[in-house]
Parts: sequence; C-alpha cells; structure tokens
Amino acid sequence: MSNTKKTQQTLNASQEKSELSRRRFLKEATAGFATLGLWGASGRAFSKNAARVVIIGGGIGGATAAKYMRLLNADVNITVIEPNTQYIFCPGSNEVLPGWETLEGLTVTYNTLKTRYHVNVIQDKATDIDYTNKRVKTARGEVISYDKLIVSPGPTLEYEAIEGFNETLAEGNFPAAWHAGLQTLNLRNQILSMRQGGTVIISAPKNPYRCPPAPYERASFILTMLKEHNPTGKMLILDSKDSFIFQNVYPYYWTKNFGYGTDNSMIEWVPKSKGGEVVKLDATNHSVITANGTVHKGDVINIIPPEKAGQFALQNNLTEGDWCPVNFRDFTSTKYKDVHVIGDSIDGEPMPKTGYIASNQAKVVVQAINDELHGREIAYPFIINDCVAMAGKDFGMVLTETFRFAGEGKRLEEHYNIPGATDDPARQLILQKVAENWQRTFRKDVFS
Ligand SMILES: Cc1cc2nc3c(=O)[nH]c(=O)nc-3n(C[C@H](O)[C@H](O)[C@H](O)COP(=O)(O)OP(=O)(O)OC[C@H]3O[C@@H](n4cnc5c(N)ncnc54)[C@H](O)[C@@H]3O)c2cc1C
Repeated sequence: MSNTKKTQQTLNASQEKSELSRRRFLKEATAGFATLGLWGASGRAFSKNAARVVIIGGGIGGATAAKYMRLLNADVNITVIEPNTQYIFCPGSNEVLPGWETLEGLTVTYNTLKTRYHVNVIQDKATDIDYTNKRVKTARGEVISYDKLIVSPGPTLEYEAIEGFNETLAEGNFPAAWHAGLQTLNLRNQILSMRQGGTVIISAPKNPYRCPPAPYERASFILTMLKEHNPTGKMLILDSKDSFIFQNVYPYYWTKNFGYGTDNSMIEWVPKSKGGEVVKLDATNHSVITANGTVHKGDVINIIPPEKAGQFALQNNLTEGDWCPVNFRDFTSTKYKDVHVIGDSIDGEPMPKTGYIASNQAKVVVQAINDELHGREIAYPFIINDCVAMAGKDFGMVLTETFRFAGEGKRLEEHYNIPGATDDPARQLILQKVAENWQRTFRKDVFS
C-alpha cells in the first residue's frame, strides 16, 4: 500500500476513534476514575479527579511530553518511567569526537522535571502494558495505572543485522556511538590514536534511522580531525542507500577541504548501487564485507546499525512490521486505546526520526490530551522540523520542513527547503552558529 493511501486510512480511523475516546476519557476523568493522584509522589497535591498521564521513556520525546503536559495543566498527575538517572543528548554528540563538546555538556538529570514541574520520575524499566486494566508494570514489579499512556522508548539498534556484529563488540573495539555515551568517547580515542595513513570506515544505515544527516556530519568532523592529526589518513563511507540528505552540501565541503573527487581525496563515498552496503563484520581481520563481496579493511570501523522500534514497543505489540503505526492527528496507537506513541519508534513517514520531531510530536500529544480533558475538539496539528547540521566549526546548514494536514484533514502534507552550499564563507559560518545555538536552545526547551 502506498504511504499516502496508508496515511489517509489512518487519518479517517483516527478521527472516528478520537471522538469516541474523547467522550470516554471525559466520562472517566469526571467520574472520579482517576483517584490515585491526591498526593503525587512528586510531593504536589492534585485534585481527586486529576487524570493520570504515564510516560514511558525520559528521552527527548518523553521529557518534552512531561514538561509541556504540566505547563498546559496544573492538575494532572504525571509519571515518567525511565531506567537511567541521567539523559545524554545525541544532538551535539558528533561534536564530542573532535573535542568541540563534552559528554558532560550534553548530560542532563531529571531534577528539574521533578522539582519545577512536579513530575513523578520512577527510575525503572517499564516491561509490560496491561491494556485492559490500563496499567504498566516495571522490572522491579511496580504497577502504575494510567488514564493516558505516552510511549517514547527510542529505537532498537539492530547490531545483529550485520553478520558478525553485536552490542558487545560495539561496546568494545567497534563503537557504533549511536546512543551518545562511552562509545562516543571510545570512537574519539580510536581516531586520535589511529596509525598514520590509516583508514576510518563509517557504515551508514538504510532508511529510516535517527537523524538522517548525522553519519555525514560525523564523517566531516572526523576528516577535520584527520587533517590536523593524521593528514595521510582516509575516510571511507560505505552506504546502504544511494542518496542522503544535504547531498547538495556535504560533497561541496569535502571537495573544498579534503580533495573529494580527486586522486588525492581523503574521502570516498560508496553508495549502495556501487557496492556500499555492509552486510558483515570480520572482527578478527578488522574488515567489513559488502553485499557484492568486497572486503574493506579499516583501522577504525564505525558501523551504524539499522534500526527498528524500541524493544518495549516490540514486546508490547505496539508494532506492525518494524515500527509503531499511529494516527498522526494525536499520535494515538492504531492498535490500542488511550496509548500515544511518539519519537523514533513510530512509522512516521514522511516525518524524519529526529529529536525536534519527537519533541513536537510530544507537544501535539499533550495538547490533544488537554483538549480532551477540557471537552474541546482536538486541533489538527502543524508540525515543524528545523534540521540543523554542521560540516565543520565554520560551516553549517539548516533545513526547514513543515507538515500540515491537507485535504480536509485527510493527508499529512510535507513542505521543505534545503538551501545549497554557497561560496560565501560568512553565510556558512552564520549557519554553523545557528546550528550550534539551536542545539543549546533545544536542550533547554526539553529539560529546563
Ligand atoms: C549522532 C546523533 C546526532 C543527532 N543529532 C540530532 C540533531 O541535531 N537534531 C535532532 O533533532 N535530532 C538529532 N538526533 C536524533 C535524536 O537523538 C532522536 O531522534 C531522539 O532522541 C528521539 O527521541 P525519542 O524520545 O524517540 O528517543 P530517546 O531520546 O532515545 O529516548 C528514549 C528513552 O526511552 C528510555 N527507554 C527505553 N526503553 C524503556 C523502557 N522499557 N522503560 C522505560 N524507559 C525506556 C531510554 O532509556 C531513553 O531515555 C541525533 C541522533 C544521533 C544518533
């Protein structure tokens, strides 16, 4: 089925369903169904009828939902279930490689959510959803009831999809660094200590995956590192697709700075159709093998694995195929009532998997929940994606993209603009500053 047709059917079903569930939710909330929240664990008093919103995952999608739910409504009992005590932002994590950013600078805690926004944060892993009784179970055996559930568990990185690769290897000699953290530092150290004239291989995944420009941004930053510390070093990008976002910009930068397209180029990009798709890792011989059988030896090998919906979503039957189907009007699951799924786990085409999109989806969801609580019709959302990326400290790029409902609310329409590179260094420097400041502002919007 075409994506457009699928989207249309999803939207029709969504409109009928959201009217029904709106009436039910109102009835339940006003009948005192939500009785748990007289004193929330956050130490704040809620009314007897306060609705219970439970959020699984305290990453970009989940934290935005918690904060903005509170900003919209003081009398909702909000609980976030998240196993980690800290969150490390992936946006900005490529900059840790050349040392322009630190992991500490990207790390936030849940203190502000707890103290300023009176959100109960349960440090635990959610395991099961009991859809009939509207309860979530955690690994430590807690059972938490909800009126509305928001699920934002991020993606599963499918290490094993590449033969010979697995998470243990990624935590050791072959860092994927696709969740920011120790693997990011390990990759940085490997690049800095690579022998002179060595080769760094990046295996870029097939679509869809989180942050489409990030593999090419990463390659550009590594090239800058090589130029400074290892000028005879090489970068080889083996790609599981034939095109990538900002393809009108990155090659321009590579040509200007690293001889791309010449015999002395520091960088080579091999698309899928020319044999770029990596299918196997030979860890013993430090090489990767592509679909056409070519063996590439690398001194540093960075395999970015393909992705699918988060384990939690897969295990709780929220998926169809690899991703979670949702109604775009309010991001309710097409499979279960009163469950919203957002972020990297959803079948979100044409929306890309980015933090900014996850955050804006969260805002759509809490607006819809709040509208329902107040007996208002759910608005048609308008979603924006500002995709910022860099090639170097002096060169940035910004894509602006909007998604709006068209065809009387039956179609999600995408409009975007990707400006090409210019020969004006001042302009590219401004765009780099925009990208850098966007990241700081975004982090504050989600967690402060
Ligand atoms: C290198 C890199 C650079 C990027 N740069 C950008 C950028 O510049 N701009 C941008 O917009 N996006 C960027 N992204 C993408 C962005 O990080 C993701 O799209 C975004 O984090 C998705 O949000 P999410 O809430 O779906 O998942 P996440 O932010 O990953 O959050 C998921 C959370 O769920 C928790 N969780 C998982 N399972 C459970 C469970 N069972 N119970 C409880 N909690 C659970 C996890 O611990 C995690 O905290 C980048 C990504 C990478 C890899």
